[in-house]
This record gives sequence, C-alpha cells and structure tokens, in this order.
Amino acid sequence: MFRTILSLFLLNRNQRQIKRYQAIAEKIDERGKSLLQISDDALKQLFQDTRANIQQGATLESQMVEVFAIVREASTRVLGMRHFIVQLIGGIALHEGNIGEMKTGEGKTLTATLPAALNALTGKGVHIVTVNDYLATRDANWMGKLFTFLGFSVSSLTTSLSDQERKLAYQSDILYAVNNELGFDYLRDNMKLFREHQVQRPFNYAIIDEVDSVLIDEARTPLIISGQTNEPSELYTTANQLVKHFVRQENEEDVEGDYFADEKSKRVHLSDAGHAKAELLYQKNGVLAENENLYFQHNLHLIHHLESALCAHAHYVKDTDYVVQNQKVILVDEFTGRLMHGRRLSHGLHQAIEAKELVPILPNSQTLASITFQNFFKNYPKLAGMTGTADTEAQELYEIYSLEVVVIPTNKAMIRKDLPDLVFLDKKSKYQAIVNDVFELYQKGQPVLVGTASIETSEELSILFKQKSIPHEVLNAKKHDREAIIIAQAGRLKAVTIATNMAGRGTDIILGGNPSLLQDNQLPEVNWQEQHNAVVGLGGLHIIGSERHESRRVDNQLRGRSGRQGDPGTSRFYLSLEDNLLRIFASENVSKLMQWIGFQPGQSIEHPLLSKTIESAQRKVEVHNFQLRKNLLEYDTISNDQRKVIYGQRSAVLEKQNLEQLIEDIVNGVIDQLISSYAPETLSIEDWHLASLEQVLEQQFFIKASFVTIMQEESFVSIRDTVTKLFNNEMQKKRESFGQEQYQNLLRQIMLIILDKYWKDHLINLEELMRGIHLRGYASKNPKHEYKREAFELFVKLLEQMRFEIVGVLMQPIIKHEQLEEINTSQLQTTHQEASLTESPKSIEEVKKISPIVSGDKVQRNDPCPCGSGLKYKKCHGKV
Ligand code: ADP
Repeated sequence: MFRTILSLFLLNRNQRQIKRYQAIAEKIDERGKSLLQISDDALKQLFQDTRANIQQGATLESQMVEVFAIVREASTRVLGMRHFIVQLIGGIALHEGNIGEMKTGEGKTLTATLPAALNALTGKGVHIVTVNDYLATRDANWMGKLFTFLGFSVSSLTTSLSDQERKLAYQSDILYAVNNELGFDYLRDNMKLFREHQVQRPFNYAIIDEVDSVLIDEARTPLIISGQTNEPSELYTTANQLVKHFVRQENEEDVEGDYFADEKSKRVHLSDAGHAKAELLYQKNGVLAENENLYFQHNLHLIHHLESALCAHAHYVKDTDYVVQNQKVILVDEFTGRLMHGRRLSHGLHQAIEAKELVPILPNSQTLASITFQNFFKNYPKLAGMTGTADTEAQELYEIYSLEVVVIPTNKAMIRKDLPDLVFLDKKSKYQAIVNDVFELYQKGQPVLVGTASIETSEELSILFKQKSIPHEVLNAKKHDREAIIIAQAGRLKAVTIATNMAGRGTDIILGGNPSLLQDNQLPEVNWQEQHNAVVGLGGLHIIGSERHESRRVDNQLRGRSGRQGDPGTSRFYLSLEDNLLRIFASENVSKLMQWIGFQPGQSIEHPLLSKTIESAQRKVEVHNFQLRKNLLEYDTISNDQRKVIYGQRSAVLEKQNLEQLIEDIVNGVIDQLISSYAPETLSIEDWHLASLEQVLEQQFFIKASFVTIMQEESFVSIRDTVTKLFNNEMQKKRESFGQEQYQNLLRQIMLIILDKYWKDHLINLEELMRGIHLRGYASKNPKHEYKREAFELFVKLLEQMRFEIVGVLMQPIIKHEQLEEINTSQLQTTHQEASLTESPKSIEEVKKISPIVSGDKVQRNDPCPCGSGLKYKKCHGKV
C-alpha cells in the first residue's frame, strides 16, 4: 500500500518536474538563438563572464540558462552535436541532484557536459563516474574537446595511473573517473602519513553514469584494500614447540594446570602458572632476553602466539575441523562438511594450525581498509546519476540514497516492438528455436543480438551456431575496449552477436555499424548510409533474450539496446521450464499440466498467465536482493560512522601544524585513567595501588617513579600532579633532543601509525563480530542491535587502548625507525568483486537455499527472517 502511494506520488512529481524543466529548457533554447552568430572568442568571453559572476557570489542556478546555452553552442561548433531539448531537460535534472533516466542511445555522455560545466565553474572539481577504464578514457577524449574550448582542464582517472598522475588528475576541473579508483584512492589517502602524499581533494559533485550498476549491482560487495602481514613464521614454529610443556586445566577454577581451553568460545586462557612458564620457556630458547618481562607492550604478541598454538592443539582436530591437502590446511564447513578452499582463520590461528601440521606457514592477507559504494558516494555534497533503466529500482534509490529518478522523455518516439515471451518445455528445444530463428534472420541480413545471463549459456549457444554455420561474435570476457568495438558493430547487416549482460556496457549500437569506430576505411561513408538504410528496411536490430534475468531491470537493459533514437527494432525472450527462474518459481503443476495437454518438446506457448507468473517471480527476487543490499548497508553504516570518526581524527592530525595541544590531551586522558585505576579519589590512600602504578609507569611508559616513601603525605591532587610532571619531563626531553619541527613530525607519525594500526585491527574484530552475530538471532535478540551495541563497545575500547599506545610509543627511550614508516599503498591489493550479473543462476540457487519466499520451506511468521535482515519473517518477506 505504502509503496503504491509512494510510486503514485513519485509519478506525479515527475510530471511536474519535467514541466518545470521544460520551461527552463525553452529559455535556454531562446538564449541559444542569439549565440548562433557570435565568434568563438566572443562565446568564450561570455563563458568567462559567468565564471566571474559565480566568483562574485552569484548562484549556479542564476547562471544556468546562460551556461547551458553557451555549452550547447560550443558543442555544436566543437563536437558537431547540438544538445536536444530533452538533453537540456536531463542536464537540469542532473544539476538538481537527481537520477536522470534516459533510454539507451539518447546521449547521456553529451547531457552530462551541461551540469558538469556549470558546477565546475566553482573551481571545486566535478567527477563524472564511469564503470570501466575504456569508458573513462573514451569520454574524457571525446568530451574533452568541448571542455577545453570552454577553458576547463579535463582528465581521466584509470587503473594504471601512478600516485603523482592521480594527484594531477584530481586537480582537473572535470574528471572522468572509474568508480573503483575513486573509492580505492579514498581508502589509500586515509593511510598516508603526509598531506602532500594524498591525491584527492575535497569532494564536490559527482555524476554517476550507469548509476543503477554502481549503486545497486556493484554495491553488493565492498571495496577492500588488503595487505599481507609480515610476521616472522618462526614465532609460530617456536610457539608450537612449547605446547607440549603446558598442562591443560580441567575447568576454569582448577588450580592445577597452565591453561584453560574454553570449548564454547574456542579460546584458551593462560593461568598465572602458565604465564610464568611461558616467560621462562621463551627466555630459555632465546626469544626473550634473560630477565625480560613477557608483559612489556612489545612482547605481548608472544603470549598471543602461544595462545594460538594452544588453541590449534586444543580446539582444532585434523580431518574434522580441517584437512591437510597438498601441504595446505583447508577448513571444513561444520554444517555442510564441505571444504572451504581459500578461507583462512584470522588472528594467526590458521598459521598456528599450519605450524602444528608442519606444513608451510602462509602469510595472512588482512583487510586494511574497506568501504561500500553506498557509503563512499555519500561523501559527495551533491550527487546525480544517469541510467537507461532505473524506474524499477526508483523506490530503492529514493529510500536509500534520497535520489529521485526523473524519467526524461525520449528525443524521438520509441517504436521498438517487444514481442511476448516464448516458453518451451526444455532448454534443448529453446536453444534449437533460437538457433533456427537466428539462422533465418542471418539469411535475411537483419542484425541480431543474443543476450545471455551467463558465460556458459553464451558458450553453449556459440557451439550450436557454429554447427549451423552462422558466423558470429561472442562477448563474455572482461576486455572492455575490444568488446566496445565489437558491440558498436553489432548493428551491421548480417551481424550476429552473442553477449552476456555486462559485455560492452555503455556502448551504443548504431544500425549499419558505427562509422567512427571502423578502421582503415573498411566501410566508406556512402556504404554506411546504404547499410544503414538496408538494416532499417529489415526492421532494425532484433534482440533475443536467451533467458530472463532475476531482475527486470537487466532484461530492460538488454531490450534497450535496440530501438535507440527512434530506430526500428524488435525484442523477444525465449524461456524454458528448465530455466532457473521458472524451475524455481513456476509450480510443478504448470509443467505437469503442459505435459498433460500434450505439449511437445519443440513447441512453444505464449500465455499471459505465464508472463504474469514470471514477472511476479522477478519481483520477489528483486525484493529479496533489495533486502540483502539494505542489510549490508545497515551493517556498513555502523562501521561507517566509526570510520568517519577515525578518518576525521586522521585529517585533524594531518592538517594541524602544532600537535602539542592534542598530545597533551591524550596524555591527560591516559593519566586520568591511570589515576582512576590505581589511585582513585573515591578510595582512601591506604587502598591505592601505588606499587602497581609504579610498575605500569615503568613497563608501559619507561618512567621510573617512586611513590612509596611519600605515600603518607600524598593527596589525590598531588599524585596527579606528580605523574603529570613525570610525563611532561619526558616529553620535554624528547622535544629538546628532536628539535621543534622534528618533534612535531614525530608526534604526527606516531599518532597516525597507531590510529591506522588500531583501526585495521578493529576492522578484523568487526568482521568477526559480523560473522558470529547471526547466531544471536536464535537467542531472540535482534542481531543488528547486538552488532551495533558490541561494535560501539569495541570502538570505545579501541579509542582507550590507542591513547595508551600512542603515549607508550612516544615515551620509548629509542623509537625505531621502522615503527614510523608510511605503508606503500601502491603495493597493496585492491579487490572489489565486480557485480557479476552473469552469476544470476547461481544467485537464484542461493536465494532458493536461504529464502522461503522462493523455496516454500516452512518458516513460521514469528521466526527471524532467514535473509539475515534481523526482522521477523512476517515483517520482512512475509509481506511480499
Ligand atoms: P547513451 O549513453 O545515452 O546510450 P551515448 O552518450 O553513447 O548514449 O550517445 C549515443 C549516440 O548518440 C552517440 O553516438 C552520440 O554521438 C549521439 N548523440 C548524442 N547526442 C546527440 C546530439 N545532440 N546530436 C547528435 N548526436 C548525438
């Protein structure tokens, strides 16, 4: 109900907006008439005048008509393309921070130049975001001519650039940028120790091309930067050798024994005796110097190694919890018994098991930073998007991003005919029908594009086409530039192209072929016109969908490749009862009925009831996928709030010339904590633990103090003062020995390095928390609330520990150089699983496994919804 009202509301609003934009577009058109005759120089001067106006405080809105009219006229002169009225309308929608839905071939690239130019006049930079290197480079070159004419600098941001080149690119007025690169640069910048090493400048305005791909499909997985930890593997081997000396306790209260192994949490805790033994053994084998304390901050990892080794022996059983194959430890899924190749236990546990099994100890790859596109793009004060297909997802974009979809009218009426689906009994007959139909079209000469949802289908069809001697191209790899060239020619006479959904994204199919992409004059201009006319005469490009995707949007994208700019065209989907979508959704009765009425393999039916069933199936999966994305976003938002705090503090440290005040605050925080632990105001002096305080000061902060003799006279205030003085003295010594400037740099590096170290450890903790949190659902707790609460507790602890470590490192008598080095971010690994629309069959299987909306498993209304949303089933999927 709410959704229906919302969509009606959006629809009316859309019409009103278009009307308003239309009026502005007319003014732009009118103003354009007076620009037709003026010289290039005069046009450029007028543009500079608008820049001056904005610099003097005029709003962008007040300059919009003038700027759009000038850009349009400049484009006519430089690119030979004059923005259509609908493109002006699209440009206004984008300037106002909406998503402009413009059908394929309507010219989104040119449309974006209008708001880009207007917003770039502020001097704060505009990012036009594309999905791959090929498109970023192509568009920057293509539209670059226009922007240069207007006096702007233009660059493209692609995968292969060095840091220096990136930095330069970010200074440009207009940047055509690949989405992943923007996100990774953001994460990498937040690992730099010096402001001048960072490449980005503050975000201003982004126009995301193919916005549905970026904010919906690709938003399913976060961007991750990871690095290998470089702990020496000998420590694991040593710890493993020590295990045999340790005696396990029967229970936690047991006074005998060195450690307790907790079965429930799969952890181990060393007893006091265990600790003493560990210290002795480490000293004996030379890892610790004689008389050196295991509790010094820099030795704490030795306890951790030992605990991991004990844990590996106590809790992990070979051939039950893991197997050893080809010198590798592979985990076994405790529920399914399947091997989990590539999954590694964190916190050094996997290495401990490797040491136990005497196989090579592999370094861990550790997440150093991560972010989802959803949260990354929220960094932009203003955001807009363009796509050919967003209306089916308009509600999601509105609910999650507050972005409104404005459907821009087409320049010419769309005359493509979408034919009803054909349904076959089995896949074989379906493929056969496709082959026969393609063969017929090929003989006729009409170009045909066959879309597949998976790489396998594209290969199966290719084999069948070969058997029938149909020449064709197959596009299913990730070579974006070659794909773009091939797909641009998919509209030529007799062209047969098989492509997966993702292939050749963003490239237009022109009937008769794209003349500008033809090499060596293979096709002279005059021939092109003939070809074009011939293809138009044959009915334009025919689209065959070899199965339906789980999302209607993707099917619409495929259809939208035909019928651009008023071209003729047709489209049809071929389905079989063996297709995943139908197999899972259409009840068995339907297929039984079809068999009963004597429906034979090879025959096909078209029935409105069937089409309805299919569409409702797609809707269900869409809702499910939306829930998954929303869920990911909700979890990510919790860590995002924390990331903002950390990145905010980082920036403050990077920006500040003088860090004295900051370090003083941090030291005071530490002192407060020490005092409240060892000499709290609330206790009388006799109950203070001054000896422990002395010990901590010495072990953690290298400060020698003696409170014992003066204990009688000490009051709360004076002990605080004494401790403060001790710290200040040490800092003063450091300041003097380094000199003021070096000292500032030292403070900066220590703070940032420790901030980063704790943050990355925190990310691991959050990952683990997330992994375990779904079990809470069964204890009738809301996992999301639990996650939020525990994540917050962890964060508070992190801030506290961080303060201690910063001061601890600063107080070290000698600070080692390698402790202060910046990570070489260009060598870190970046991963973002590309939104793999080709994986659709698998994902439907997954959906089936976990979601009762498709599998029909019995889930009670009050059970937690298995999709992991944390809602009760009746509140989540029960409603659909
Ligand atoms: P989209 O991304 O919307 O599918 P493109 O930006 O790739 O479309 O443009 C499609 C084609 O339309 C391009 O070949 C472009 O040259 C052409 N085009 C766009 N706008 C105009 C215009 N105003 N006048 C002439 N040709 C245009």
